[in-house]
Amino acid sequence: MTFALSQTTINFAYLVASVGLIIGIKRLSSPATARSGNVIAAIGMAIAIVFTLLSPQIDSYWLIAAGVAVGTVIGVASARMVKMTAMPQMVALFNGVGGGAAALIAAAEFHRLTPALGHVLPEHMGAMLFSALIGSISFSGSLVAFGKLQELLPGRPIVFAGQQIVNGLLFAALVGVGIFAGATENGVWAVVLLLGALLFGVLLVLPIGGADMPVVISLLNAFTGLAAASTGFILENTALIIGGTLVGASGTLLTILMGRAMNRSLANVLFGAFGAPAPTGDAAVSTNGEVKSYREVSAEDCAVMLAYASRVVIVPGYGLAVAQAQHNVRELADLLERRGVDVKYAIHPVAGRMPGHMNVLLAEANVPYPQLYDMEDINPEFPRTDVALIIGANDVTNPAAREDPESPLYGMPILNVDASANVVVLKRSMSPGFAGIDNDLFYRANTAMLFGDAKASVENLVAAVKAA
Ligand code: NAP
Repeated sequence: MTFALSQTTINFAYLVASVGLIIGIKRLSSPATARSGNVIAAIGMAIAIVFTLLSPQIDSYWLIAAGVAVGTVIGVASARMVKMTAMPQMVALFNGVGGGAAALIAAAEFHRLTPALGHVLPEHMGAMLFSALIGSISFSGSLVAFGKLQELLPGRPIVFAGQQIVNGLLFAALVGVGIFAGATENGVWAVVLLLGALLFGVLLVLPIGGADMPVVISLLNAFTGLAAASTGFILENTALIIGGTLVGASGTLLTILMGRAMNRSLANVLFGAFGAPAPTGDAAVSTNGEVKSYREVSAEDCAVMLAYASRVVIVPGYGLAVAQAQHNVRELADLLERRGVDVKYAIHPVAGRMPGHMNVLLAEANVPYPQLYDMEDINPEFPRTDVALIIGANDVTNPAAREDPESPLYGMPILNVDASANVVVLKRSMSPGFAGIDNDLFYRANTAMLFGDAKASVENLVAAVKAA
C-alpha cells in the first residue's frame, strides 16, 4: 500500500498533536475546562496515531488493526463499566500495560538491531535498556498496585527482614546486567534484565500499604512516561518522545503534590510501610486504648440544625464516593439554599482516593464550580460556619494532624472543621479512614455522629429538611 507521507508532513502533524496534548493537560487543571481539555488531548493523540500509521516504515496494517480493535474494545468497555471508586486501580492497570508495551518494544528492537556486534549506536542501546528496565518495573509494580486496590492481594504492607537491602542489591545488579547486555549485545542478558526488572517491580510495591497506592501509581505513571519517551528515541518518533516526557513530568509533579498534601516524603511513602492494619473493635476505644465517648444525632435533629443555620460547609470524602450520594447531596444543598442558607463545599486536595476525586463526583451532580472551595480558601471560613457537614470524610479532618506530634498524620494540612460551631459526621461506624488512625474530632463536644450509609443518611436529611 502506498499511503506513505513525507517525514516533514508527519513531523508537522506530530507538532500539532503535541500542542494538543499540552493544551489538553493545561485545561485539565480546572474542573471548568477539564472536559474540553480531555477532548483536545484525545484529538492530539488521534492525530499522532493516524500520522504514525501513514509513515513509510509501516509495512503491514493487519496486525496493527487487530491490536487497535482489541485495545479499543477493552478500553471502551472498561471505561464504561468501571465504578468511580475503582478508577485508581483501572489507572494502575492501564499504566502498567503502557510500561509493559514500552519494555516489549525495547526488547523487540534489541533483537532486531543486534544481529551483528557493534551494529547499534550507544545512545540507542542506552535508550533500549533504560526503556526495558523502567517499563518492566512499571508493568509489574502497577499489577501489584492493581491487586492491592482490587483486594486480590492484601492491602497491608508485606514486609520481610532485610527487604530494603535485598531491593537495593537487586537494583544495583540490574544496572550491572544492563551495562553488560549493552556491551556484549547479548540477548540472553537483555532477557535477564527484563525478568529481573519484573521481580524488582513486585518487590518495590509489595511493602507499600494500600493506603499509599495512589501515590505509587502516580510514580509508576511517571516511570511509564519515561520508558515511552525512551522508546521514542529508539524508534526516532518525536510524538512519542514529547508524549512520554509529558507523562513523565506530570506523573512526577503529581507524586510530589500528593506527598506534600499528606506531608509525606517520597522515601516515607516507598519505604515507610505506612498503613498498618486498621484497628477494629469497640467504637469508643481510640487507637491508644483510651476510652472516649461520642454523641449521636438523629437525621431529624440534624435537619433542624441545617435548616436554621446561616452558613453550612459540606465536606465530602471517600465515603461519599462509595455511597454515590453526590446527587442527594446536591438536592440537600439546593433545599438549604432555597431556605436562605449559604452552602459551600470544602475540597481537600487528597480527599477520596485520587486527585480531583471529589471535583469529578460533584461535577457529575452538576454542583456549580463557584461553590467548591479549596482548602486554603475555606479554612478561614470555618470559625464563621454554623454547621460543618462531613460526608464520608475522615483523615482530611483529623485535628491530630495539627495538634499531635506523635500522630503519623502530624503536619498534613487538613480542613479545620473543628473550628465550626457544630460538626456533624455522616459515616457508618467509628472505624478509622484510609490511614487507619483514630479521629479525635468525633469525640469533641461540638461534634455529633449521624451513623448510616451516606446516601441513606442524606436522603433522610432531605426528607427531614422538607418537613422542618
Ligand atoms: P478516609 O479518611 O479514607 O475516610 C473515609 C470514611 O468514609 C471512612 O472513615 C468510612 O467510615 C466512611 N465511609 C466509607 N463508606 C461509607 C459509606 N458508604 N457511607 C458513609 N461513610 C462511608 O477518606 P478521606 O477523608 O476522603 O481521606 C482520604 C484518604 O486517602 C487520606 O488518608 C489520604 O491521604 C488518602 N489518599 C488520598 C489520595 C488522593 O489522591 N485523593 C492519594 C493517596 C492517599 P465507615 O467505615 O465508618 O463508614
